[in-house]
Amino acid sequence: MNLPITGGCLCGKVRYEILAEPLWTANCHCRTCQKAVGAPYFAALFVPASALKITGDYKEFASIAASGNTMFRGFCHECGTSLFGRNSRFTNIRPVSAVTLDDPTLYQPEKDIWVSEAQHWDVMNPELPKFAGNPWK
Ligand SMILES: [Zn+2]
Ligand SMILES: [Zn+2]
Repeated sequence: MNLPITGGCLCGKVRYEILAEPLWTANCHCRTCQKAVGAPYFAALFVPASALKITGDYKEFASIAASGNTMFRGFCHECGTSLFGRNSRFTNIRPVSAVTLDDPTLYQPEKDIWVSEAQHWDVMNPELPKFAGNPWK
């Protein structure tokens, strides 16, 4: 991938740059992601926290994940776009919403996670490995 990878929210007030290759990617079908992103799954690139440069004001919503960790979800307080997250335990890795990339065609999903909570009308690529819950623990 050509670096930096850039992206931002719908209104353009929050912008970000990713300065390193993503570590891995996943489509998360958990109920919390569904509600947070307003879609059947959260398509996420996981990037080194030190490589994510954010400009513009955003808000965070905190919720407790199944792991017991706190997940902070960053969104633009102007347009509401869900952009990125941070996990209280894995502070050196940050998920970034693939659909907010300026060029979302860069995104290559590697796996489907939390498929146990997926909607029956959700559509997945049968070629990708599937995990009922969190594959990392
Ligand atoms: Zn915005
Ligand atoms: Zn999720």
